[in-house]
Amino acid sequence: MEKILCYSCSKSKNKLNTRKSALLTINLLMCETCIVSKFEPRWVVILAGGQFGSDHVKEYIIKKRYIGQPILADELLV
Ligand SMILES: [Zn+2]
Repeated sequence: MEKILCYSCSKSKNKLNTRKSALLTINLLMCETCIVSKFEPRWVVILAGGQFGSDHVKEYIIKKRYIGQPILADELLV
């Protein structure tokens, strides 16, 4: 069986849930842990920041509600 990885933490889990992104109009496959933590995948935060401006993703960046390297201001300006 194909292994599906959580969009947010990239770990393979037995159970992933579909969850509507809070930042973009897309559906995400995420594990329970990431959903409970109200995380968004790092690339979604960057994409949404580029599309709607840094104010839109400010909460996520300040509270670090994503997994991975810190998102730098210039990454949102692409
Ligand atoms: Zn996860």
